[in-house]
Amino acid sequence: MIVFQTISLLKEKLLALRFAGKKIGFVPTMGALHEGHLSLIAASKKQNDFTVCSIFINKAQFNNEEDFIKYPVTKEQDILQLAMAGTEIIFMPSPEEMQRYTSYEPLQYDLQNIENVLEGKYRPGHFQGVCQVVEKLLHIIMPDTLYLGQKDFQQCLVLDMLVRQMNIPVQIQVCPIARTPDGLAMSSRNMRLSEDGRKKATTIFKVLTEIKTNLTDTNWAACQQKARQQLLDNGFEKVDYIEMCDPHTLEILTYAPAGKEVVLLVAAFIENIRLIDNMKTSASILTN
Ligand code: AMP
Repeated sequence: MIVFQTISLLKEKLLALRFAGKKIGFVPTMGALHEGHLSLIAASKKQNDFTVCSIFINKAQFNNEEDFIKYPVTKEQDILQLAMAGTEIIFMPSPEEMQRYTSYEPLQYDLQNIENVLEGKYRPGHFQGVCQVVEKLLHIIMPDTLYLGQKDFQQCLVLDMLVRQMNIPVQIQVCPIARTPDGLAMSSRNMRLSEDGRKKATTIFKVLTEIKTNLTDTNWAACQQKARQQLLDNGFEKVDYIEMCDPHTLEILTYAPAGKEVVLLVAAFIENIRLIDNMKTSASILTN
């Protein structure tokens, strides 16, 4: 395993690999790694000759200063976990190194309506920040496949839009959400929860599962309200959203015909930490 901190040395290495006809998989992360990240590494290792994992806490995607300051940093542990998972290349640039890479002003990406709903609505500027950094990383690494987690459902759609708009020749593979045995979606932010908070946080999975099981002849507004109340009754301080959306456009639905594929998405705060989760399902007769 090689750890690169500079773009020029990384590019040199990757150029040699590509010249030798090697397939390259790429897993971008912000560190504080857990089994969710490692599942993306495993998927990449299965399908490529070399896997690159980047660790970069992208300030541009934090709309909340406190969230940025408190974001967990576990560098040594991350490197160890990546080594044990067989990752060939780690890229850990400093903010200055990433800043130096281009001289142009950050682009304003056209993310259409996807930017105005759900995470986009509650975290203004978040997806522009994500695109700025991921576009740079893709230009530097030029992987064959980019591995993303369904955990960040909206981000997957945004990055799909980015690569199509910018004509970046990369495949995107979305990997399933890794959960703890009691259902909590793994997240770096979970490290900041108390033991009690972590247990209560599983309510998100419970409400998603309950909605999924009961999506038949259900009044969506009532379902939504019940789920919100259940979260508030189980230690969540605030619910940003519980929505049912079209999985391709993220159009917010209040009704879905029988058999329609939908995605249920939740964002809520517990112990002042914002957690997100989602679940795909197929709706049955729903009314609003
Ligand atoms: P992050 O470090 O949070 O920016 O995440 C890096 C990548 O790991 C993103 O593509 C995430 O969607 C993915 N990821 C984060 N948590 C999980 C999880 N529980 N299961 C699968 N993938 C995940």
